[in-house]
Amino acid sequence: MTKPILYDQTSETLQTVLRELGQPAFRVKQLEEGLYQHRYLSFLEFSTLPKSLLENLGENFTLFPLELSKTITSRDKQTQKFLFELHDGSYIESVLMHYEGRHTVCISTQVGCPMGCVFCATGGMGFIRNLTAGEILAQIIFAMRQLEREGMNLTNVVYMGMGEPFLNYDHVMSSIARLTDQKGLNFGARRLTISTVGILPRIHQFTEAKSQVNLALSLHAPNNALRSQLIPSNEFYPLHALIDAAKKYTDYTHRRVLIEYALIDGVNDSLELADELATLLHGMLCLVNLIALNPGSNDTLKGSPREKVEAFRDRLMKRGMQTTIRLKRGIEINAGCGQLATTQKSR
Ligand code: SAH
Ligand code: SF4
Repeated sequence: MTKPILYDQTSETLQTVLRELGQPAFRVKQLEEGLYQHRYLSFLEFSTLPKSLLENLGENFTLFPLELSKTITSRDKQTQKFLFELHDGSYIESVLMHYEGRHTVCISTQVGCPMGCVFCATGGMGFIRNLTAGEILAQIIFAMRQLEREGMNLTNVVYMGMGEPFLNYDHVMSSIARLTDQKGLNFGARRLTISTVGILPRIHQFTEAKSQVNLALSLHAPNNALRSQLIPSNEFYPLHALIDAAKKYTDYTHRRVLIEYALIDGVNDSLELADELATLLHGMLCLVNLIALNPGSNDTLKGSPREKVEAFRDRLMKRGMQTTIRLKRGIEINAGCGQLATTQKSR
């Protein structure tokens, strides 16, 4: 049997574990400091804890649940992709990006993804399993350590890697709880973004939670006929319901929603569709983030050329929509949006 992961434990469960081992209450604080402030990668580093306790923890728990299997760095050195092996032989990827003083890690929430969006390499893998909160958190801790070695600090975390975060809602939210907790990583909620394809009940739940975490909605089409061709789940959660849910989120939180729109040549990039999108989003507190489709799982779909991306942006802006074009990162190392995919090791 595999050992439980220390980063999956809450303060309360750690307290129980240590109490059962006959340890005084202050040991929890020492253990949590080692996990979240010092981010030790080996039990040997926890110098404030007695050796016998460390031995016991080592026998019963996994400290760090990710094994780095490969690092790939882009030619411009601004993007690094990490391939990690998990205890069951699954692999996940996370991507660290540097941009004008910002250091952002893009993390995975599932091994594969069941949603099957036609343009996405992760979707092409199918679904293998959800990650635990500790496996999600460990990707962030790894990025922090990586940056610290070079005298830099992590500034942003985006839940935009492999998988659909809102299909792994509880573990994602527990990871955020520990990420933002003062006793955890003490990282500002406003520096986090969760991207969803639109799991309606979970958008409502997220809104009710009144979190300060940013929400991104992957739209990619302004009408149901087109969106359903690209994103199968649109049949269950149609556009008007998603837009209503996103508006409720902005009403509750006063935070704008990021609308993601990948431009696919000849498919969703006409100026008529830009007009339709502007009408759909009219009156909503949002920022439209355009990106030309990256090579993903489908060879027949191509990213729109730069002129079309700019024309689409200009049309949206003319219609009063705040719009940006996303910087392309790490494409040649398959570290761009929708390019993350791994193969399962057979055991
Ligand atoms: N499952 C979530 C988050 C992971 S995907 C979601 O779908 O939102 C992260 C982002 O990459 C999403 O906006 C997704 O639509 C986008 N994406 C997927 N494949 C892509 C591709 N080939 N090119 C550009 N963006 C892509
Ligand atoms: Fe899953 Fe997001 Fe890829 Fe769709 S775009 S298959 S929801 S990871």
